[in-house]
Amino acid sequence: MDVHCTTCGEPWDVYHLRHDAIFETDLSHDEAKAWTELSQALRLRPRYREKFRAAGYEFGGSVLNVIRCPACPKGAVPDPDTAVLKATIVEMLGDDEDGIASIMEEHGL
Ligand SMILES: [Zn+2]
Repeated sequence: MDVHCTTCGEPWDVYHLRHDAIFETDLSHDEAKAWTELSQALRLRPRYREKFRAAGYEFGGSVLNVIRCPACPKGAVPDPDTAVLKATIVEMLGDDEDGIASIMEEHGL
């Protein structure tokens, strides 16, 4: 399943976001591996958000809500309507990542 970047529309594989993207940051291998075991809330603590931002990723309330990604053109801004819609989906479904992924895919978000 794919979800799309709010800013540039690039498709991102859900598995990649949940399990692999963390290894693109400068966290140690052990720390990145430990990250994949954390709950959704802990995975987006400020320390991790900072690491992801340095690697080009910016997420909303879930790692499945890609607001910016490494493929974004410099200076591009997120689509405001899509941003609101995606935030609402994440808020409604909470920790249900499979649900978030399938709704976003269904709507091409
Ligand atoms: Zn992007």
